[in-house]
Amino acid sequence: MGLSWRAGKRVAIVGAGPGGLSAALALNAKGYDVRIFERHQAPRPLGGAVLLSVPVLAILRQYGVDLSNFGSYTVTQFRNSKGKLRATLPFNPVVEKQFGINGWHYGVLRSSAFAHMLKLIPEGMIVGSHGLTSYNDKGDAVILLFENGETVEADMLIGADGVNSVVSRQAFGDAGLFHAGVRVWLAWCNHFEGIPANVGCISHSRTHQASFFPMLHDGKPGFEWWVVEASSPEAPVPSDPKAYITDIVSKFADPMPRFPGHTDFSTQMFRWEVYNRPSLKSWSKGRVVCLGDAVHPVSPYAAYGMGMAIEDGYFLAKYLDGGDLADRSVLRSAFGAYEAQRVAYCNHHVEFARKLGRVFHHLPAPLAIVRDLVYDNTKLLEKNLSKDYLKTAEEFSMALTELHVVAA
Ligand SMILES: Cc1cc2nc3c(=O)[nH]c(=O)nc-3n(C[C@H](O)[C@H](O)[C@H](O)COP(=O)(O)OP(=O)(O)OC[C@H]3O[C@@H](n4cnc5c(N)ncnc54)[C@H](O)[C@@H]3O)c2cc1C
Repeated sequence: MGLSWRAGKRVAIVGAGPGGLSAALALNAKGYDVRIFERHQAPRPLGGAVLLSVPVLAILRQYGVDLSNFGSYTVTQFRNSKGKLRATLPFNPVVEKQFGINGWHYGVLRSSAFAHMLKLIPEGMIVGSHGLTSYNDKGDAVILLFENGETVEADMLIGADGVNSVVSRQAFGDAGLFHAGVRVWLAWCNHFEGIPANVGCISHSRTHQASFFPMLHDGKPGFEWWVVEASSPEAPVPSDPKAYITDIVSKFADPMPRFPGHTDFSTQMFRWEVYNRPSLKSWSKGRVVCLGDAVHPVSPYAAYGMGMAIEDGYFLAKYLDGGDLADRSVLRSAFGAYEAQRVAYCNHHVEFARKLGRVFHHLPAPLAIVRDLVYDNTKLLEKNLSKDYLKTAEEFSMALTELHVVAA
């Protein structure tokens, strides 16, 4: 390893996903000696597209990501399957001004967002083919043990190793993962004509969600689009996904039925079964701390898992703030501040996303009819989204003053 590895500064991150990369960038900027141990030979961005919200973009901008070609300003609408408008996700002009970024959600191809972060990681910082098997927290240091038989001593260990985290299992016990009751078909395609610019639409039938969002892929315009349906661990997987999905979206208003024709199902369509875990109250133990899906895997109903993982890394570094990691009281106080900032906030979003999944995909038919009547004829959906999702996200955004470009 050509990079320095000084006692009191040694941070070992397990997992080169978005959360691990974010922590690495933020901690490197605070003067720590960082290594990211990844079980694969090289980091592998998962396919498909994601939505990233404004505070996440502001963090990436602070790391050095150029946002000019990153994603596009989009207004999010909620409609029923016949196209009737149910709600528009309101923007907060104060938040827009403070961050100097218009809108709220930006559609980005996951691999491009990941590649932007990867470009900023110093050479040698990612150590591939190092799958962690366990660790030993000795009190004055932590020893990492890898599948290949190697060991590494560090001052602090960050578990950024995703939903099946080895680190969080050892620190907090079995995750108790459970199927969140939904399956997501996530696709993307190149741009085609006939869709109003800067509009993203999340639409629901009585049983399915079918949605699209404009995105940029390496500066080129395109769309991400997806279908959410009720599922279970036993649910069979359709043998012909293209026919299956084409049939589902054919029951939605234009433009939904047109997306399959523009999509290569062998390379641009991804299927996910969504798993959650019961919410944890603490994400740290001794010299070990976790972030991202390792402690709060979330259903895509929040459109926020990658965003939350990136935010976690940023806040961890903010509270460690260059302190001496040999000193356990520095770790204790930084982990405490990090958990106070993140745990309840992330748990809220995970639980809200799960609730939305239940409301849209698991109500018995008579209740689903009532739900749709209410959403079609009242402002309840907009009110719920503002109260349970946007309000906390906006308060959080306004408090991130160090990332604002304009004072309130
Ligand atoms: C269908 C779907 C749609 C989504 N849409 C959105 C969206 O619109 N917006 C959004 O923000 N998020 C979205 N997400 C969530 C987002 O993809 C995840 O929350 C995010 O990738 C979590 O990042 P992470 O770094 O915590 O974990 P991961 O991305 O899972 O990365 C973990 C890394 O750790 C490595 N690893 C695992 N075990 C070990 C080990 N033992 N040793 C070493 N390395 C190890 C893995 O190889 C991997 O590289 C979506 C997720 C799904 C399933």
